[in-house]
Amino acid sequence: MRTDTILNNYLDRMITDYFANIKDHRDLVYIAFGRRARTRLGSIKQTGGLEKRSIITINGLFRDEAIPKEIINATIAHELCHFVHGFSSPLPQLVSYPHQGGIVDKEMKSRGLGNLLDFQKKWLKTEWPGIVKANFKPTARRRRARFIRWF
Ligand SMILES: [Zn+2]
Repeated sequence: MRTDTILNNYLDRMITDYFANIKDHRDLVYIAFGRRARTRLGSIKQTGGLEKRSIITINGLFRDEAIPKEIINATIAHELCHFVHGFSSPLPQLVSYPHQGGIVDKEMKSRGLGNLLDFQKKWLKTEWPGIVKANFKPTARRRRARFIRWF
């Protein structure tokens, strides 16, 4: 099982290799596994108080090493794009809404993470439904989401 320490290593690597422009903010960014979830791969939030921190939470199901590390890295990269765009971060906010005009995917591509993004999209289609089925009991009355926001 992956630990929060391993997640921190992934985050360090991602910042060093693809987000070097925010390496001076590394101490502000925290990461940990959260609850197991069907539709939420990750999120980023900023704490209140004087010393604001940005906290990335990763779907608890991703502790399982059967989940490819690329999926976790793509999720981390997605949340770092929000940070770069000034959401849940001290940086200036670039757009009104976090996913405006596909800005996150564009940011990933511009940083050389297009292949990782493609891998994740494919994997979500082909593999994820089976993993959800194996990890959650079906609920007959659950309303089907017309639109899923993953992050
Ligand atoms: Zn997002």
